[in-house]
Amino acid sequence: MTSILSDRINQMEESATLAMAKKARELKMQGIDIISLSLGEPDFKTPKHIQEAAKAAIDEGKYFSYPPVAGYQDLREAIAKKLREENKIGEAKAENIVVSTGAKHSIANVFMCLINEGDEVVIFSPYWVSYAEIIKLAGGVPVLIEGNLENNFKATASQLETAINDKTKAIIYSSPCNPTGSVFSKEELEAIAEVVKKKENLFVIADEIYELINFTGKHASIGSFPGMFERTITVNGFSKGYAMTGWRVGYICAPVSIAKACEKMQGQFTSGGTGIAQRAALAAISGDQGPSKEMEKAYLKRRDLVLGLIKDIPGFKTHIPEGAFYFFPDVTYFFGKSVDGFKVNNADDFCLYLLDKANVSLVTGEAFGAPNCVRISYAASEEELIEAMNRIKEACAKLV
Ligand code: PMP
Ligand code: GLU
Repeated sequence: MTSILSDRINQMEESATLAMAKKARELKMQGIDIISLSLGEPDFKTPKHIQEAAKAAIDEGKYFSYPPVAGYQDLREAIAKKLREENKIGEAKAENIVVSTGAKHSIANVFMCLINEGDEVVIFSPYWVSYAEIIKLAGGVPVLIEGNLENNFKATASQLETAINDKTKAIIYSSPCNPTGSVFSKEELEAIAEVVKKKENLFVIADEIYELINFTGKHASIGSFPGMFERTITVNGFSKGYAMTGWRVGYICAPVSIAKACEKMQGQFTSGGTGIAQRAALAAISGDQGPSKEMEKAYLKRRDLVLGLIKDIPGFKTHIPEGAFYFFPDVTYFFGKSVDGFKVNNADDFCLYLLDKANVSLVTGEAFGAPNCVRISYAASEEELIEAMNRIKEACAKLV
């Protein structure tokens, strides 16, 4: 039967993270006691002073009309100042900033503006689920370079060098990384920058949305390196570090021509991001950073807790994540094992098994380009994490 829908949407994969979160939500609504470790979403509330700023903005009554497409000027200036002072991106000015409805929207704008049909984009894999689908939607071809468990899932500059050809238009990575929690060091990024600089018109999309959850204490922005400002689109947002997923505010810092293109794209698709949410974002970026630091500390404590619990489950192989709030263990040990007639052939089956028998939702590594792994989000309470890992351990012991 011919579909009434476009080839574009028929060819697109559903977001695996959101699909698993939806499934977990539906099971919870049926009264099943699901522990959801599938969605990459802080379990903390948005800090009070940010909430208050949004309330004050409503009371002021000034932010109910269409905001400027690229974002309020004072917010763009505050973002540029942060990038200059904290990220050492010395050239960043308000004109380089475009505020969007979440960093996902920022990334979509960037690819829609950079990619022509057939252009290649190198993705450092494992990678966040949405990169490849957005690239394909824009007509591009994702090219994966793969890190593995032994090198903390970090693909290297020399792998990048071999992947680049005449068609390569951009590269994208996240650091701290979703789904692996790995963090690129300054030296690793410098080596990547050297490769990028060898090719004209090659751009780096540096997804730094987990910047504020970094246990190494060192965050490096590739856009701050000599000669890299004009080649880098730094992506960031408020969802993770300020626990503001539902407010939907993200941004880019890009060379002016790219920033203007994204503004034009956004002007036809969504217009400026929600006014009140932007006022909250301004309070987040220019106000007290204490709550973000406290959340980072809590994530570190949970990381150590979950690390201990994972090590206690025979068959799980993991590295030690240095940021974000994910573990990404290799679970190949369980492939081929069965219980009650159900055979686990791959990571998808393993996640379905755990959802069904342990009532814990994880996300299959398949969606992140690593079919031997599963992603565990530890943005959950310590009690939930302990209970979830116990349930997983029990369910895994039954697989023979
Ligand atoms: N990049 C990465 C690596 C992410 O994990 C997410 C998760 N949501 C995003 C971008 C998009 O974030 P948001 O749209 O909530 O700002
Ligand atoms: N980025 C988060 C995740 O990876 C939120 C869901 C999404 O937007 O993909 O789970």
